[in-house]
Amino acid sequence: MSAFGNKASSTAALQRAAQCIRPEVRALKPYHVPAAADMIKLDAMENPYSWPPRMVDEWLAALRAVELNRYPDAEAHELRERLRNAMGAPAELDLLLGNGSDELIQLIIMAAAAPGRKILVPSPTFSMYHMIATFVGVECVAVPLRGDDFSLDMEAMTCALDAHDPAVVFLAYPNNPTGNLFAVEDMLAIVQRAPGLVVIDEAYHAFAQASFMDKLAQFDNLIVLRTLSKLGLAGLRVGVAIGAPAWLEEINKIRLPYNLNTLSQFTAAFALDHASVFAEQTAAIRRDRTWLAERLASLRGIRVYDSRANFILFKVPQGTASHVFEQLKDRRVLIKNLHGSHPQLDSALRVTVGKPEENQAFIDALMAVM
Ligand SMILES: *Cc1c(COP(=O)(O)O)cnc(C)c1O
Repeated sequence: MSAFGNKASSTAALQRAAQCIRPEVRALKPYHVPAAADMIKLDAMENPYSWPPRMVDEWLAALRAVELNRYPDAEAHELRERLRNAMGAPAELDLLLGNGSDELIQLIIMAAAAPGRKILVPSPTFSMYHMIATFVGVECVAVPLRGDDFSLDMEAMTCALDAHDPAVVFLAYPNNPTGNLFAVEDMLAIVQRAPGLVVIDEAYHAFAQASFMDKLAQFDNLIVLRTLSKLGLAGLRVGVAIGAPAWLEEINKIRLPYNLNTLSQFTAAFALDHASVFAEQTAAIRRDRTWLAERLASLRGIRVYDSRANFILFKVPQGTASHVFEQLKDRRVLIKNLHGSHPQLDSALRVTVGKPEENQAFIDALMAVM
């Protein structure tokens, strides 16, 4: 021990942190990722499939040429152009890459943040919008979705847009955790009515096969977000914003240099050269989503919601959600318990579509505990 003694674990350190750290931050709980060792992991919208062995060999061989002593390409030119082609992004629009689309959400909110500014989201939706708004001290206005089918409540949205004048509106398409696509005419009405930017988050594009990409050029206040995570590359952390240069050039100014590391840039470009592998995997997931939804719907007491993503939201009889969740966990099946997270998610659970044998194991375990 140094001559100063062990101060780091003292109550003095606690007191100093309490003085220095913002109250809003001290009130937060850290983002919790449950342990999943030895579990059938159906909680995080991951693609369950790994790569064919020959593709792994080819990748490992190509990695020899990667120079980790150098900084990454700060603008990720090569990957950006490949993503532009792969996604069919219009030539007049820009792409901005992030360390996952989470980082792009953070950059967008940071770029707009100022005292009195607000962001607006339907609710329930992806929790990161609200969390990041809190991190940067921006108010997040949450407008409830309609309770019966999680569609947009257009009367409430219109009122909220006019009343709160939000700098940014986030719409997840399909929505997480509900899985549904909002009506196109509702989305367009919001883009037209919104006083500021509208971000359409297409994280589940591979499973929805519906997009606003072809409508980007028609509006001066629209950005589309995509990610490679749900497609099958969650470990790489690569997200993409597509939009008019006027927007992305501003947001790019507050991006930290080298936000996309060399290994991620290289591997994402390599993966895009093997797009058919991912196309097959996501087609299998879409097929198995149908199987899983039908099996769930056949169980007594379960209400299943239509999904255009790689997960399914379902409700179990009142008062049983946490019990069902824990019992599944005891049987080594990990899903997501949404009960208690939002008034409209009472008794709701969310399961990610896995491999056929994983889906079967989940259904078997669910039948055993219900
Ligand atoms: C998973 C998810 C993201 C985050 O994706 P990353 O690219 O892995 O950061 C963004 N938006 C929605 C709606 C998601 O469900």
